[in-house]
Amino acid sequence: MELNTFDWPKGTRILVILAHPDDPEFFLGGTIKMWTSLGYQVDYGLLTDGELGLSEAFPDPKKLAEMRHVEQRAAADVMGVSSITWFGYPDGFLVPDIEKRKVIARFIRKMKPAIVVSSDPTSYYLGNNYLNHPDHRAAGQIVADSLFPAVGNNGFFPELIDEGYPAHRVSELWMSLPKDRNVEIDVTPYWEARVSALLNHHSQIGTPDVFVQRMKTRRAETEDGPDRYIESFRRIVFR
Ligand SMILES: [Zn+2]
Repeated sequence: MELNTFDWPKGTRILVILAHPDDPEFFLGGTIKMWTSLGYQVDYGLLTDGELGLSEAFPDPKKLAEMRHVEQRAAADVMGVSSITWFGYPDGFLVPDIEKRKVIARFIRKMKPAIVVSSDPTSYYLGNNYLNHPDHRAAGQIVADSLFPAVGNNGFFPELIDEGYPAHRVSELWMSLPKDRNVEIDVTPYWEARVSALLNHHSQIGTPDVFVQRMKTRRAETEDGPDRYIESFRRIVFR
């Protein structure tokens, strides 16, 4: 298992593309904070507004969508993230299709990242107690299918060239929530920052004290133990 084995030049651009607001911090918040602390530039692209993360306190999808934009910007500030691009697809109904493949190919070519991050489209189950959200799988599928072969090949979506977005070469793809991990990142020093960022997602976390306690319990229950915090990935290094 690789552990913290990356050595990219300062200023390396990392583009995180996921389904919902709060996914970046939940899935890989420690890693994002570590990357920005190391001087890498991290940007987000979020495919939905998360407007179906409803609860008794937040029952209105339209208002919730607006609120989640504000919450996500505050969380991204804690993470040191540069920009957030919203795509506004309906929450809960994300499906991979050719139109979205083109939209995301355009986005990646425009942002010119060296590293792209999403979530593993092959992860149906998370541990023994959870089904992965279909939007998370769809997001990973859209990103992977955009990246290869469309982003790096001018034959795909030639109209993007006319728009000023020619083919771009991405060096690596990192998939969070991996079915089969091949990288583990020890982000213990960044766990607190991750929790602080998550606390900005007011509409999703319930009572803050209870949430923090739950995060601590969850951390203690992993095989890494209470003294370590690991985030894992499927890392693809393109040759
Ligand atoms: Zn999500």
